[in-house]
Amino acid sequence: MRILVCNDDGIYSKGIQQLASSMSTIGETTVVAPDEERSATGHAITLHKPLRIKPVSLPKLNVRAFAVNGTPADCVKIGYDIIMERKVDLVISGINRGPNLGTDVLYSGTVSAAFEGAILGLPSIAISLVSYDSDDYAVAGKVAIHVAEKLMKHGLPQGAILNVNVPAVPEEEIKGVKTVRLGIRRYAENYIKRVDPRGRPYYWLTGEAIDDRANYDGAETDISAVADNYVAITPVHFDLTLHSYIENVKGWFQHPASL
Ligand code: MN
Repeated sequence: MRILVCNDDGIYSKGIQQLASSMSTIGETTVVAPDEERSATGHAITLHKPLRIKPVSLPKLNVRAFAVNGTPADCVKIGYDIIMERKVDLVISGINRGPNLGTDVLYSGTVSAAFEGAILGLPSIAISLVSYDSDDYAVAGKVAIHVAEKLMKHGLPQGAILNVNVPAVPEEEIKGVKTVRLGIRRYAENYIKRVDPRGRPYYWLTGEAIDDRANYDGAETDISAVADNYVAITPVHFDLTLHSYIENVKGWFQHPASL
């Protein structure tokens, strides 16, 4: 099995090194990741400047690794096309430093790298550790192997990925796996206004997630599952069509006169 490992925290982050190490136990692993942190870049791709591929050595890991001066989605595209010559069986992105829960998936470079894999028609996983402080990615690495093996066995429909969030607690405190829908994650966001050395104002976004445990339509979500120390797994599709509302909106435009 040929595995493409990517992330959005950059090739030297601790999470991707754990993921590369874990994946190398189940397949031939190639790391293609941004040369610097690209968190919250969503699904951006680079069109207006050249991309460079730089081989790097990751200490103690028996994997090929390449840094790219682009976004996570760029890395998957160029990793698939050029570095791995279109022979890829699995794309896995992470292990992200911090959660990718609920609406986070729309901003997340980690999740977008997995979606790029899905666009290429490949089984793809995004995996995140629910902590910005923990340095211990070992449990999430084990979860990654487990999820990858299940995905390769069962498969998913075209265009779908698995989004996985692992609580940052000791292994014995993890209660199990819950397959749940995405929740809605709200942030208390603020722009802090400051003044630069030349007297001009600038603004810097700060935000803190409000981890309310409110259920969505009464259902458990990825947010509530990780809060209860479960690994949360959500199958996610990049087709954002609201199928249940197509007929309704069609009704708005039935009479040409309404234009
Ligand atoms: Mn990140």
